[in-house]
Amino acid sequence: MSLTSKTAIITGSNSGIGLGVARSLAAAGADVVLNSFTDRDEDHALAAALAAEFGVGARYIAADLSDGAQARALVTKAGRCDILVNNAGIQFVSPVDEFPTEKWDAIIAINLSSAFHTTAAALPMMREAGWGRVVNIASAHGLTASPYKSAYIAAKHGVVGLTKTVALETAEEAITCNAICPGYVLTPLVEAQIPNTMKEYGMDRESVIRNVMLARQPSRQFATVEQIGGTTVFLCSDAAAQITGTTLSVDGGWTAL
Ligand code: NAD
Repeated sequence: MSLTSKTAIITGSNSGIGLGVARSLAAAGADVVLNSFTDRDEDHALAAALAAEFGVGARYIAADLSDGAQARALVTKAGRCDILVNNAGIQFVSPVDEFPTEKWDAIIAINLSSAFHTTAAALPMMREAGWGRVVNIASAHGLTASPYKSAYIAAKHGVVGLTKTVALETAEEAITCNAICPGYVLTPLVEAQIPNTMKEYGMDRESVIRNVMLARQPSRQFATVEQIGGTTVFLCSDAAAQITGTTLSVDGGWTAL
């Protein structure tokens, strides 16, 4: 699959799944725009390293996606957007009656509303180019629930709803919009949950991974960032031109249970 001459914006891509997706798109020939809310030398160096490794254009644009205006400005500053991957996300775990309002608001803003703003800014560019792909990184938690993750699950179900709506609004154009629903992927977001879970359950790391985290993932294996990247590249391919408004689970069987 060659994505040469396409420009991809991947939100939240200085680590984890976003960086993995950016690497896969760059490997397929796309110019990539990396993003997060920080503006450090190492963020820009990450883009330079991708450009050197894959021989593509790569830039880093800082934007705090909890702010809708910054989310739109990210797309405007990129100047072109053939492929939009809405990936930025955060997590917070608490019973719903104790859930801090500021955490709820931040999760809804970053995990859901930013995708609305970037999509709204990107669609006119895709229409101008006559081709576009929107890939939303939702979650198995966009299709199922777990206790104590109310904001995350509400946001991810919202992303799936947004995906379907954007697909219908672009259905007669050469633009598709789909959501990838990963199960557990071992990234910094997940790694950060391990120490507390070890304490909570009085278990060692391997037991937490196998018996708590992957308890609902029948494969008992983490999905990888390369697998999410490969699925994204597939959704950008001609073979996927009639796939729109749907969810693709990469979850080792979680949602088959
Ligand atoms: P991660 O913490 O490694 O990456 C999250 C990215 O979002 C980082 O680049 C971070 O800097 C960025 N980000 C956070 N707040 C931001 C803000 N305000 N503005 C701009 N960028 C911001 O986590 P990850 O596991 O790679 O998660 C990426 C996406 O995949 C998230 O949407 C997450 O919900 C989803 N997901 C992850 C898993 C998993 O098991 N890791 C499973 C399903 C879905």
